Amino acid sequence: MSKNFDCIILGGGPAGLSASLYAYRSGIKTAIIDISAIGGTPTNYCEIDNYLGFNKIQGFELCEKFENHIDEFNIEKFPYEEIEKIDLTSPIKKIKTINHEFCAKSVIIATGARNKKLGIKGEIENIGKGVSYCAVCDGAFYKDKIVAVVGGGNSALEEALYLTKHAKKVYLIHRRDTFRADKIIQDKIFSNKKIELVLDSTVEEIFADKKVNSIAIKNVKNNKKAKLNIDGIFPYIGLEPNIESFGAQLKLDKSGFILTDETMKTNLEGVFAIGDVRKTPLRQVITAVSDGAIAGVEASKYIMNLENVAIRK
Ligand code: NAP
Repeated sequence: MSKNFDCIILGGGPAGLSASLYAYRSGIKTAIIDISAIGGTPTNYCEIDNYLGFNKIQGFELCEKFENHIDEFNIEKFPYEEIEKIDLTSPIKKIKTINHEFCAKSVIIATGARNKKLGIKGEIENIGKGVSYCAVCDGAFYKDKIVAVVGGGNSALEEALYLTKHAKKVYLIHRRDTFRADKIIQDKIFSNKKIELVLDSTVEEIFADKKVNSIAIKNVKNNKKAKLNIDGIFPYIGLEPNIESFGAQLKLDKSGFILTDETMKTNLEGVFAIGDVRKTPLRQVITAVSDGAIAGVEASKYIMNLENVAIRK
């Protein structure tokens, strides 16, 4: 028998948790489904220092506060539910996971985004053997070792700084000679003695025996190649959206992020998208929770409107 809700939120990160709070408080029966634990990607962030009201807070701690807040209400949570089949196009949306079948009048997509891969030889085959996309999870394995971080955005620079707490040396490898990360983080990078900048350079290959031991890099300006001895590498070269099971049903931008209007509506009736998975000018925890608030209210308006139409008929 299917589990029926007014609104189902796919993804239990900050965006999804916020949406559930606003939807529930608007009086609609709400549930959250997540492929993994509730909390979302920021649970893996080292330190968040730009969430208003908290000068410095661990990502895990902030997400725990979000979850504790929604636990005060009757919002059902279904963690570790992998979607097998989903129909977002019908008036009643249907979601089949490994354990359950769900039906809902409205769906809010908050499935987030994951780190892009470098796409080079030695990367995928050495995940867990020196290639990692989570400095907070794996940084402690590199105590007094040498690591490389790849990228020039906020993630790369923040995680490079975090890794200096464990590693004796951190190469920060970037394909240009200027960073796109916030200036405040760049200043911290430039003054950190453990960080060596490798600019105008790309990583061409990752070498390992049992574990990663070195990388081949290329200077893109003079084409000179070099080998760097390292124990681990952390690529932070941007995000790609988690849309695999439903992306074909939605309008997306050329990178696969979901297109919405300012009320978080997608091209499908009753379907909203929020947070990192949608095309947005700013990907932050604070913008994710703000998207969630808008979508929670809009989803409840949509459902109440459906009910008014049904009563009038
Ligand atoms: P990002 O801002 O998109 O930066 C990706 C970086 O990787 C860029 O510097 C880019 O170089 C480089 N890059 C892209 N493809 C590459 C490739 N194939 N090889 C080598 N380098 C490559 O991604 P992000 O840092 O993961 O951040 C994602 C979003 O989350 C951003 O909106 C960011 O502001 C936000 N975020 C915010 C915070 C915070 O506010 N505390 C923390 C983390 C993330 P180019 O610069 O040359 O394009």
